[in-house]
Amino acid sequence: MKMRKKVSVLGCTGSIGKATLDVIRHLPQKFQVFALAVRSNIDLLEEQIKEFRPEFAVVFDPDSAIVLQKRLPNTPILSGLDGLKAAAGHKDVDFVMLAMSGSIGLHPALAAIHAKKQIGLANKEILVMAGEMISGLAKQQGVELLPVDSEHSALFQCLRNEPLSSVRRLILTASGGPFRKKNAEELEKVSLEEALCHPNWSMGPKITVDSSTLLNKGLEMIEARWLFEVEPERIDVIVHPQSVIHSLVEYVDGSILAQLSKPNMVLPIQYALTYPERKPGLLAPFDFQACSQLTFEPPDKKRFLCLQLALDALKAGGSYPCALNAAGEILVERFLSGCISWIDIGRKLEKLMSSHRRSNMLSLDSILSVDCEMRELARQA
Ligand code: NDP
Ligand code: MG
Repeated sequence: MKMRKKVSVLGCTGSIGKATLDVIRHLPQKFQVFALAVRSNIDLLEEQIKEFRPEFAVVFDPDSAIVLQKRLPNTPILSGLDGLKAAAGHKDVDFVMLAMSGSIGLHPALAAIHAKKQIGLANKEILVMAGEMISGLAKQQGVELLPVDSEHSALFQCLRNEPLSSVRRLILTASGGPFRKKNAEELEKVSLEEALCHPNWSMGPKITVDSSTLLNKGLEMIEARWLFEVEPERIDVIVHPQSVIHSLVEYVDGSILAQLSKPNMVLPIQYALTYPERKPGLLAPFDFQACSQLTFEPPDKKRFLCLQLALDALKAGGSYPCALNAAGEILVERFLSGCISWIDIGRKLEKLMSSHRRSNMLSLDSILSVDCEMRELARQA
């Protein structure tokens, strides 16, 4: 019998993590869970451990780890960064699904690359803050970073077997978020509840807010720059409110390839897991009648300032994307806790980015120091 792939799922209680477990449950002959990792949601983790029986689990928060270990004495429960690195770099793991949110995911990502694991990358913040280093290291180690973000999975599928020299543009699609039709005056007063209500996708809070400001699309352009090693000038974005076309590749001869499907993350997750094969999936056949209209419009970078700021950071390079990511994480955290308004996310980000001075980002230390400094500034902004 063919060996099953052993998968570590980092962030298994989140939206991507749960969908990853759905795919593993759907293809039990192909995959088995090796390790599971969360921050502190031990109730759901406990259920997942009982169902998937991993070799060990990780609870980042040490106090919660102790509580869970008491409940489950037969499953080793690790904690902290060392625990995350063990789940990502253990010699017996085959595939590491990086589905945590935020820049904390950088450390296990590095562990997985050093250990030459197959990697499914949902945790885009890692490539935004340290894209040059991560993609260089992955290449050096012969590790392929398999995209999980739906846009990048679409690009990856459309790029198969084509050299990058044939590509004119990578075109990422954006839904436009819940505020696509709001004018500048209305945007001054949008609420947290409205920002958390995405028209097409159900996701964790950080990425949902980023989708409402279009910062998410900017982060994704930076992610694409490093995943596919394409210069910023060849990465474009178009608003496509139905989220059926997940992205497109325009070739130099004018031909455009697109990937279409219902907006559901199980598809890109499964493609990363089964790559380079395809296996029967969880989606019902596509319903063309229900999706008879596919429309496009240019993004408005004035109303959605965060997109412009991310584009500027993409073009400026160096430490700018890392600074943008760190400041964005803190500003969204402050918005989620009710301390600042939605419109302030863009305004404060603009101020913070205009005061940032570019440095080259060659070492892990320089990346972590820009990250830390920018977080502090964003807390006070
Ligand atoms: P969620 O907020 O739903 O889930 C985050 C997960 O990460 C949870 O399991 C959480 O654990 C875990 N986590 C957070 N911090 C730590 C930590 N320090 N140590 C261990 N685990 C931690 O996020 P999403 O699933 O929405 O997003 C995950 C990533 O995927 C993000 O980078 C996002 O941008 C990206 N992505 C998401 C998409 C989506 O559809 N949701 C689409 C494309 C990309 P706990 O539950 O204990 O807090
Ligand atoms: Mg996406």
